[in-house]
Amino acid sequence: MPRPLCATIHLDAMQHNLARARACAPASKIWAVVKANAYGHGLERGMRGFADADGLALIELENAVRLRQLGWVKPILLLEGFFDASDIPLLAEHNLNPTIHNYEQIKMLEYTKLYRPIDVHLKMNTGMNRLGFRPEAYAAAHARLAAIPGIRSITMMTHFANADELEHPRLPIREQLRRFRVGAEGLPGQRSLANSGGVLHLAELEGELPSDWVRPGIMLYGGTPGGKSASDYGLLPTMTLTSEIIGMQQLQAGETVGYGSRFESTGPMTVGVVACGYADGYPRHAPHGTPVVVDGVRTTLVGRVSMDMMAVDLTPVANARIGSKVILWGDGLPIDEVAHAAGTIGYELMCAVAPRVRVVEGRLGTTCG
Ligand SMILES: *Cc1c(COP(=O)(O)O)cnc(C)c1O
Repeated sequence: MPRPLCATIHLDAMQHNLARARACAPASKIWAVVKANAYGHGLERGMRGFADADGLALIELENAVRLRQLGWVKPILLLEGFFDASDIPLLAEHNLNPTIHNYEQIKMLEYTKLYRPIDVHLKMNTGMNRLGFRPEAYAAAHARLAAIPGIRSITMMTHFANADELEHPRLPIREQLRRFRVGAEGLPGQRSLANSGGVLHLAELEGELPSDWVRPGIMLYGGTPGGKSASDYGLLPTMTLTSEIIGMQQLQAGETVGYGSRFESTGPMTVGVVACGYADGYPRHAPHGTPVVVDGVRTTLVGRVSMDMMAVDLTPVANARIGSKVILWGDGLPIDEVAHAAGTIGYELMCAVAPRVRVVEGRLGTTCG
């Protein structure tokens, strides 16, 4: 029998969340973002779960090629574009749309003969200060790209720094939109603007965010970019990480648990040992008090997470036994809650699920083992 730790991927929930994104942005086409192994769900599962999307967006060129080999015929967007001129023939061969965000990329395109035309996204830096041309330099970059014979279309793109917080004090989404409008003024082409935060706030931004394309990621996986919980937005969890209790210990007052002896019991208590540790992707920095569900009952982590195991307080779990089912996150325990307790975000937890964790597919409501 395999180790009881297992991630169940709910393709039905992925489809549901994509439909939610459509409902939020009815006038836009959707790039479903499947970077980082579809946020830890598996690239091929991402492709099947988001089969209804208008395109798939990701970072890794080799995975974009793999999507073509797996039969994806709709558009593919490379969110960081390409890194070397030798990548350019692959773009044409597999009809991949690169994001162009610096002059080096433009130069490479100018010096490489494209034997088939390509569509590109041209990125504007509207304050994120990661990738892209500043608004005042944007039109010139656009003109240089437009002069390259093999460029078929240029979609104008930017990325929001604080889409999860509409009234952010430093850089509100409306200020980024204003800069985008200034930089893109008078230029032809489609627009590609919103990540999940932008999509979820589209209604509040009303007519201010007309976007031909939107680029949701985390919301499609039942996580939120921040603030509210996924269920407030009608989103469903797409990954449920489950395991079992594989050991139990009766502690006396004053005894400690795990490495560093960081947790000390104040009275007699039962702790359960769960087969899941940081080598599985569970965050080692998750503190005492991080929520865990055992046998349907909510309880908490105690002591330090070790490589293969962690301990939980079984005091509230009346019928706990070896083999009791444990939910670490997902259906029954929102990943955002676990992430919040551990001082991180759901994105990081999903992406970090380790290769040794068994992964199965199952409808929402089912888990493996
Ligand atoms: C990752 C990414 C997205 C998706 O972001 P979420 O917050 O997961 O919705 C959209 N656009 C770009 C450029 C990205 O890199």
